Amino acid sequence: MQQSLFRVPMMFLLECPRCHKRMKYAPVGGVSDLSGKKKACVYCNLSFGVQKAVVRPV
Ligand SMILES: [Zn+2]
Repeated sequence: MQQSLFRVPMMFLLECPRCHKRMKYAPVGGVSDLSGKKKACVYCNLSFGVQKAVVRPV
């Protein structure tokens, strides 16, 4: 995961581990708290861990 020196990213691009589609994710409660967060894929409805699925901050 890349870190920006210029701004704190408020959203991340995630890639679903099953269907490999990408979607944006805005963590509730801040970006320092991604571990243990889960998201349901908007395309195939798979629930996956956010931290491992981050492609990059957006
Ligand atoms: Zn999916």
